[in-house]
Amino acid sequence: MAVKFVIIGGGPAGNTAATYAARLGADVTLVERDIVGGAAHLWDCIPSKTMIATGGAMSFSRRIEGMGLSHQDAHLDLAVQRERIAVIENHLRSQVTQLLDSQGVRIINGTARLSGAHAVVAETSEGPVELEADAILVSTGSRPRIPAWACPDGERVLTTRQAYPPPEMPEHLVVIGSGVTGVEFVHMFSSFGAKITLIVSRQQVLPSKDPEVAAALEDELLRRGVRLFKGARAEGIDVTAGAVEVRCDDGRVAKGSHALLAIGSIPNSDDLDLESAGVITDGGYIPINHHCQSNVPHIYAAGDVSGKLPLSSVASMQGRKIAEHIMGIHTREHRHIDYEKAASAIFTEPEIADVGLAEAEAFATGRKIRVTKVPYASAAKAMINDDTGGFVKIISDPATGVVLGGSIVGRHAAELISVLALAVTANLKVSDIVESCLAHPTLSEALAEAAE
Ligand SMILES: Cc1cc2nc3c(=O)[nH]c(=O)nc-3n(C[C@H](O)[C@H](O)[C@H](O)COP(=O)(O)OP(=O)(O)OC[C@H]3O[C@@H](n4cnc5c(N)ncnc54)[C@H](O)[C@@H]3O)c2cc1C
Repeated sequence: MAVKFVIIGGGPAGNTAATYAARLGADVTLVERDIVGGAAHLWDCIPSKTMIATGGAMSFSRRIEGMGLSHQDAHLDLAVQRERIAVIENHLRSQVTQLLDSQGVRIINGTARLSGAHAVVAETSEGPVELEADAILVSTGSRPRIPAWACPDGERVLTTRQAYPPPEMPEHLVVIGSGVTGVEFVHMFSSFGAKITLIVSRQQVLPSKDPEVAAALEDELLRRGVRLFKGARAEGIDVTAGAVEVRCDDGRVAKGSHALLAIGSIPNSDDLDLESAGVITDGGYIPINHHCQSNVPHIYAAGDVSGKLPLSSVASMQGRKIAEHIMGIHTREHRHIDYEKAASAIFTEPEIADVGLAEAEAFATGRKIRVTKVPYASAAKAMINDDTGGFVKIISDPATGVVLGGSIVGRHAAELISVLALAVTANLKVSDIVESCLAHPTLSEALAEAAE
């Protein structure tokens, strides 16, 4: 008898687990209340990166004179942008649906909850559907955190789900929160010509990142005229006709035409009746072990609801590992996900990407490291692109030469980090990078130089 596997939530975690488990022979049912592809496709990764790509093209169009081209002022057509997002979303949604169909996954459109340790109920438009399961995956994602002092109205005060695309182009946007999501919004809206005030609760934007990396971004934000309210926490928003005022705890008031909340997310776990199966939560997240099992071994959690790195890429990786674990393959120690080695990227200008050990982290723990850093300008391709800003930093073990981590700031950083991600995951040495005969002229040559 095939393993009966029921999945609640069809985002990157859920749909990847479904595809792999079905491919490996499980009898898979996936319950999704919105669209397969999840929030990642509907509100987060896809709409954000689509608009950021347009913003990037717009900001690049302003500096093409250096390449011998004459400048024409580009204008954003918000209606076309909406259409573009819809086309990409639809395409990806049908791609995921087709893949699930081709593997024989049963998709139920409905809202699911647990009704026992081996039972799930899906509320559908045709009534409840009861599902029996040998294994269950909770991959219900997360939603924007909205503090009590803020009342998003979808017009003047927006959550991240209301801003890609926004109802209208803000003239002056007050962005609350300077983590990854916040700075990506700042980048995009400033590329489109909006004035921006950014509320930064600490003394550095991207507080969890390498200070040198954060400083490179801050320089660009200041160059664009972004006002930074450092060391300030928003504690109220007043909406008047055509304007917003964001009150901060240090007495400052940020005035603008619109405000955007980018202050993190909370897990979607409250209506799942997890207690009916004895599943423990912590602050709404479902704690998991290295196999992504909850405290109830046949009930797994993955993606944002698992409280690990809230990245689509990590969610998909967890989904695949869960499928393999349920089907009894690849359970050896070295196949566990090492969250410390997950690459991440920030799609700003300059683009930022990092992986593995950070310099500050090594410093804090007293670990001996070798740090090598070269500017992008050292690669001929950076000159050719007329875009020489940025750097590559590689962190390695001074005794063995093994690559432990790295940061890249500059054009295509999110693509280039793959080399360092591979090196960190496979325990490659800096000499392995140096010995790779790279194509020329490419930005990767800066990587090779940093590895010298
Ligand atoms: C603005 C923004 C931009 C981002 N950009 C990136 C990026 O560029 N790269 C990256 O790696 N990550 C990015 N992320 C993070 C990424 O979107 C999430 O980490 C990812 O979506 C998590 O995947 P998931 O499978 O956990 O959940 P989700 O994608 O949230 O999917 C969960 C699904 O579960 C469904 N669901 C919930 N409850 C139920 C229920 N009871 N019954 C049935 N279905 C249910 C939901 O409808 C949803 O479809 C971004 C996040 C934000 C906010």
